[in-house]
Amino acid sequence: MSEKLFNAFLLKYAEIGVKGKNRFVFEEALEKQVRLHLKRTGGEFEVSRINGRIYCEAKSDYDYDAVIGELKKVFGVVGICPVTHVADKSPEGIMEAAVRFIDDNYPEKNFTFKVDTRRANKTYPKTSMEVDADVGEALLNAYPDLKVDVHTPQEVLHIELREQIFMYSKIIKGTGGLPLGTNGRALLLLSGGFDSPVAGYMVSKRGVYLDAVYFNAPPYTSDRAKQKVIDLAKVLSSYTGTIRLHIINFTDIQMAIYEKCPHDELTIIMRRYMMKIAQHIAENTEECFGLITGESIGQVASQTMKSLYCTDDAVTIPVYRPLIGNDKQEIIDKAEEIGTADISILPYEDCCTIFVAKHPVTKPNLNVIKASEVKLNDVIDDLMEKALESDEVIEVS
Ligand code: ATP
Ligand code: MG
Repeated sequence: MSEKLFNAFLLKYAEIGVKGKNRFVFEEALEKQVRLHLKRTGGEFEVSRINGRIYCEAKSDYDYDAVIGELKKVFGVVGICPVTHVADKSPEGIMEAAVRFIDDNYPEKNFTFKVDTRRANKTYPKTSMEVDADVGEALLNAYPDLKVDVHTPQEVLHIELREQIFMYSKIIKGTGGLPLGTNGRALLLLSGGFDSPVAGYMVSKRGVYLDAVYFNAPPYTSDRAKQKVIDLAKVLSSYTGTIRLHIINFTDIQMAIYEKCPHDELTIIMRRYMMKIAQHIAENTEECFGLITGESIGQVASQTMKSLYCTDDAVTIPVYRPLIGNDKQEIIDKAEEIGTADISILPYEDCCTIFVAKHPVTKPNLNVIKASEVKLNDVIDDLMEKALESDEVIEVS
């Protein structure tokens, strides 16, 4: 479809339509997000809510692909309809506009169709059925290879009779979910791999703002590994809004674990301390109600049921693992869809890969792990405090 023809975009949302008294809160949040995203396109739009839809009317030239790209990133939007205004509101005006609409948008005029008119303006001189019939006939006369099929048409020409009259036929799939700002905030443990960015996206899609924490281990990990995480946060933020990214220097804790604990338990113990630090950050963040990780059952030794049992024991805050039942390929597919895959695939080392044991335990026993951690007793409080003091916060947007 050619872009110049559309004066507006009609946004459909589903789930938030059924939230009872909260509906207003959800719609306000969605409208706010739509405005923010449209602003990024450089175009000017007037955004309003009508009858359970959001209507974005272009007030300047705009870049069609940029607008669709941004609207596809708004959590809560299920459908995006590029809309054409009908300037002449008379019944004849509508018929002429429909003929032009088909001409402009469909190079091949040999499909089945139906007309679906909604008459919100109850004073319009024709009923919706009459408009359906008139426009259908006008189209058949203009394009003899078209056929009406009211049950399974290839194309539906929607006409809405309101104060203004508009028509559309294309519904571009939106991302779904719930609008940001309707479900508090969570802290994502963000590493450089495929999993954690996707995990953050999945939770945020339910209306949750994100902060993130990355455990850095200089000089064992490089600046480019850190930059990779910042770049991932940047891609995520195009959906989730600004992300406060905490960068924690984890080297001394890792070294202490390495020196004092059995090597086959390194990963689990390290993961437990990451969780503890993350909980601390979450508890000092307003409205932050949970941690998010990219774990999935059995993916690696530290993600068996028994390992997750040990990791989970380290904290009391809820830990969300939205990828728990996903296969790696499903996660990579999603990473490609949301645009994090190209960054995740870069081969830079991370702290887990450097200190990982050759044969990590796959069935850790929590009591054994806890007994090993006792060996850290005289240093760990100090090291935890230092790690938290090292916190470098970067606002990524
Ligand atoms: P990812 O693909 O997200 O890197 P992974 O398959 O490498 O995950 P692990 O290394 O076992 O899996 O890590 C499990 C989860 O722990 C990650 O998904 C992430 O949420 C968190 N995590 C691991 N390493 C770090 C780190 N250096 N900083 C922050 N979080 C981390
Ligand atoms: Mg990793």
